[in-house]
Amino acid sequence: MEKTLILLKPDAVQKSLIGQIIDRFERKGLKIAWIKMMKMSQALIEEHYDFLMDKPFFPRIATYMSSGPIIAMCLEWADAVKVVRQMCGATNPAEATMWTIRWDYAKNIDNNIIHASDSPETAEKELNRFFNVSTEFFEYKRTLID
Ligand code: GDP
Repeated sequence: MEKTLILLKPDAVQKSLIGQIIDRFERKGLKIAWIKMMKMSQALIEEHYDFLMDKPFFPRIATYMSSGPIIAMCLEWADAVKVVRQMCGATNPAEATMWTIRWDYAKNIDNNIIHASDSPETAEKELNRFFNVSTEFFEYKRTLID
């Protein structure tokens, strides 16, 4: 089983899309391993989007990501990183494949609804960034499914 980090960004929460998006992952069979609602501090935004700090659109990312609460989730499945990225669609919703999450719900590249880790290595780093592995971590089995 592979783990990946998902963030439902502030527009997903504001548009009451939390349930619809989680439903897609559950219907696909992905396991919700950890989940929480939180607000991202400026420091956390700067750490998470460090690789985009020198881009002209970085201030828009910072304003957007601090505009309201987000949902952070760890999803688990075989090939979770790849499957979840496919389900999310391209960064720019205008280029996203039809019926993906961003194609269905995202307004534009500045408001693109969801974040998903782009590799297993990034996922491990990002999960440690958003979850305190010593106090929030536990494993459980879906005994009726898996
Ligand atoms: P992701 O992995 O698909 O989220 O894409 P990236 O890691 O490349 O970018 C992180 C986030 O920065 C994206 O989800 C967008 O919200 C934002 N972003 C990336 N590239 C652009 C861009 O060219 N223009 C704008 N306005 N925002 C961008």
